[in-house]
Amino acid sequence: MSRRRKIYEGKAKILYEGPEPGTLVQFFKDDATAFNAKKHEIIDGKGVLNNRISEYVFENLNSIGVPTHFIKRINMREQLIKEVEIIPIEVVVRNIAAGSLSSRLGVEEGNVLPRSIIEFYYKNDELNDPIVSEEHITAFGWASPPEIDDMMALAIRVNDFLSGLFLGVGIQLVDFKIEFGRLYENDVMRVVLADEISPDSCRLWDIKTKEKMDKDRFRQDLGGLLDNYREVARRLGIMNENEPTRGKGPVLVKSD
Ligand code: UDP
Repeated sequence: MSRRRKIYEGKAKILYEGPEPGTLVQFFKDDATAFNAKKHEIIDGKGVLNNRISEYVFENLNSIGVPTHFIKRINMREQLIKEVEIIPIEVVVRNIAAGSLSSRLGVEEGNVLPRSIIEFYYKNDELNDPIVSEEHITAFGWASPPEIDDMMALAIRVNDFLSGLFLGVGIQLVDFKIEFGRLYENDVMRVVLADEISPDSCRLWDIKTKEKMDKDRFRQDLGGLLDNYREVARRLGIMNENEPTRGKGPVLVKSD
């Protein structure tokens, strides 16, 4: 990995220079963080699962015409992506009350919302990613009004697609966070979906048992994070049950 120039290291991913100009390699780490990295653990194999789940989601979004930064998965932990200028806004879409919406507004976790709600958070660790309005975003120049329109329209398409995808495999999409970037191609700028979509960035509940199958298992010390991420991948039909997720040590190859 050290042969490539590191462009950026975040909490769960590293970006390296890509093989062609305008491309990057996105590496998925095993680090799990919560509460602005105050809680931190290494969960061996999480990166492999998130790489596969995010690949599956982004490939499908590309195929229905939602523009994304995703080009292809390279190996167990890496994907080739288009280089974009990240818009410093986290877009959260909610279908069911949970997390900060429940604590901030006193809406009981699990209540189905009257309609899907879109929220914006300013990406700034020092400020703990505060919630902001469109007014803040445009006044401070983080994104322009047309870019906000694009992000909202794309967020709704992603929500519709993901809700159906997960419902089909017995999982409720409670909420999720997405990020966008500006892609410059031939002097034209387009807003495209960037970052990742995985159980790290979505709340996913089993439709029957309401069991949490996402990063809340880590945030709330419920245990079994890896088994649940593996179950999400298995239900989506993207991971061979016997496939190793660790990818670090040697793999047993049987001769017969
Ligand atoms: N989320 C995320 N990264 C963040 C904050 C939130 O991926 O930095 C996701 C989170 O997993 C959930 C949704 O965004 O699916 C809404 O999170 P919420 O605002 O409820 O915050 P939390 O309870 O996670 O602090």
